[in-house]
Amino acid sequence: MGDESTTQPPSPWSLEGRRCLVTGATSGIGRATAVGLAEAGARVAIVCRNPLRGEETVAEIKERTGSEAVELFLADLSSQAAVRQAAREILTRCPRIDVLVNNAGVVELRRRETVDGIESTWAVNHLGSFLLTNLLLERIREGASARIVNVASDAHKFVSRLDPERPEGDGRYRWWQAYGRSKLANLLFTRELARRLEGSGVTANAAHPGAVSTRLGQQNAWWAVPLTKALGIFFKSPEQGAATSLYLARAPELSGVTGRYFANCKEHRLNALACDDALAARLWETSARQVGLESPSPSVG
Ligand code: NAD
Repeated sequence: MGDESTTQPPSPWSLEGRRCLVTGATSGIGRATAVGLAEAGARVAIVCRNPLRGEETVAEIKERTGSEAVELFLADLSSQAAVRQAAREILTRCPRIDVLVNNAGVVELRRRETVDGIESTWAVNHLGSFLLTNLLLERIREGASARIVNVASDAHKFVSRLDPERPEGDGRYRWWQAYGRSKLANLLFTRELARRLEGSGVTANAAHPGAVSTRLGQQNAWWAVPLTKALGIFFKSPEQGAATSLYLARAPELSGVTGRYFANCKEHRLNALACDDALAARLWETSARQVGLESPSPSVG
């Protein structure tokens, strides 16, 4: 695997043999991302909720790519105990982590609470990634020039205000606001993470996949499946949707590029809230409290 000819010097960044972890890889963009990473020669580990779907995904990635280096970890990211358990297993079984793609996400049309009593969209889309990343961060930092990719969305532009003390909202539940807030949080998390990782060689960037035909939100309403099918011609395929995540994971020219937001494999505009460093720092503190991280991971240097 790999596209380097023997006469050329090796690329400064190649996925060949690197360990890559992808959350939410049993469908949609995450599945296409995991396949793309395995095709590029990476050792892929997927983090999934459902054991059967997880095993079936591992088998499909192996079959489609010919790679045997595909592993499964189980975690329902809405449960902080499950995230902690998965992180322990990942740290035991993965001696290094070169790429972490925080991809899992939900749209909840009605307000639901997790086992931890937190609104589900906020818990899965932001806190699950925040906690998993922090628990794996020391291992990620041990790898030279590792990369963290957070799958965000232009839906963050639905949000014009975020209270850092009550970031998951406390008024009337509107699903698009809840989703938008969680995606804004992905971007603020990326920004603050990149700042904290300055000088470490580890980068953190965010992706907007575009409008992609996937299962997102389909568990919530009978009309979601036919609607997605009807609008399918306007949407990208999961493979097209995964292109920016894969670009952030593998592009040699992105070595050292950090704290940025990309769509269609190009740097993309953020709204003003997503560029607010003070808000990013305060949201980090709130998130750390919400997941019970006693002392959030220290800055480097
Ligand atoms: P999808 O529903 O096909 O995939 C989401 C994945 O997340 C699935 O594998 C699902 O099992 C997993 N997941 C959901 N809840 C989980 C939980 N509690 N624990 C563990 N895993 C969980 O949707 P998708 O469109 O492929 O979404 C992937 C990412 O892309 C999400 O973060 C989403 O916000 C983002 N995104 C999607 C679009 C789009 O148009 N589809 C647009 C912008 C951003």
